[in-house]
Amino acid sequence: MRKLPIYLDNQATTPVAPEVFDTMVPWMRDHYGNPHSSHILGRQAAAAVEVAREQVAALLPAAGRVLFTGSATEAINLAFGTVQKMRQQARDQIIVLDSEHAAVRDTALWYQRQGFELVLQPVDSDGLVSLEALEAAIGPRTALVGSMLVNNEIGVIQPVEAIAALADQSGALMLCDAVQGFGRLDIPGHVDMIALSGHKIYGPKAIGALWVRDGVELPALIHGGGQEQGIRSGTLSPALCVGLGKAAALCAERMDADHAHIANLAVKARSLFSDWTINGARDQRYAGNLNIRRDGLDVGRLMSDVRGVAFSAGSACASGSGRPSHVLAALGLDAKQIKSSIRLGFGRYNSLEEVEQAACLINDAAEKQLR
Ligand code: PLP
Repeated sequence: MRKLPIYLDNQATTPVAPEVFDTMVPWMRDHYGNPHSSHILGRQAAAAVEVAREQVAALLPAAGRVLFTGSATEAINLAFGTVQKMRQQARDQIIVLDSEHAAVRDTALWYQRQGFELVLQPVDSDGLVSLEALEAAIGPRTALVGSMLVNNEIGVIQPVEAIAALADQSGALMLCDAVQGFGRLDIPGHVDMIALSGHKIYGPKAIGALWVRDGVELPALIHGGGQEQGIRSGTLSPALCVGLGKAAALCAERMDADHAHIANLAVKARSLFSDWTINGARDQRYAGNLNIRRDGLDVGRLMSDVRGVAFSAGSACASGSGRPSHVLAALGLDAKQIKSSIRLGFGRYNSLEEVEQAACLINDAAEKQLR
């Protein structure tokens, strides 16, 4: 018998890699210098922060810089600041996919309330955007196009390179929320800004980063001591920075091994859940995400019956607000189908036995309910 609960919620967050934890500890316990001080302790901390920045940058396009933030949500808010300057050039339209994470969607809605026109670009029943429809939507007034790389709820992979080419053609900026793809997939090279998060890549929580292409001007988000090139003031945490850097470096080192392991778990899971229907594209998806439904199932009840597995209901958005998932609704699922959907997220530290045991527990409870 495995240790319970079995953790199958790797899109919500990932466990901290032991190597990451070990790298962080001395920066909390021993090296307390402020990385912005000019004495030796400060310079040591600053050097560690810069190594971490390079480790993150190594997985990102070459012609740009990495700014540390407190989360991917903050990185996304920072990136949206670019629309203010675009508005001065008569560009007052924002286009984001209808299936974006709340970090992008709700920020876009906030700018709509500030007078920008917002287009929530539809996705098809597979969760994928139509490039033809997007091309028709983007125009000379478009300031920013936002598309995630991998969807956090359904795992589908958007054609970000092609979307970026359309944005570029029309002179708009392109933001890619790569939170669920960074460290796992190749990062598209032609976007202008990329947001990522530490706690989705076996790193610490409360740190993210924004990559910005050279030449893209960002207005300051947090005013103060002028840290992070004056854009995001506040003392950096060396422990969090080195944790994110180490997590990124480990992802780079282990990318093929992680990929093979997770693909293996996914093949097993798909066979064990063959009575369920997959939500979103079957093939154009990240293997570590399986969003599935069984008609007639009450997932609220299922979750309370299956306490031994930590997984997510497809019906509630990540914030736990209880709002029905806008992503599943965007695929055209009705309220009942949304309420009968679950999300299983496999990661580096899951084993085949855990997937088997979890499938057994979930399928048994589902059968009992449907009988
Ligand atoms: N974007 C996506 C696709 C996510 O999955 C998440 C977290 O769930 C975020 C953004 C927000 O990341 P953070 O928790 O670092 O703010």
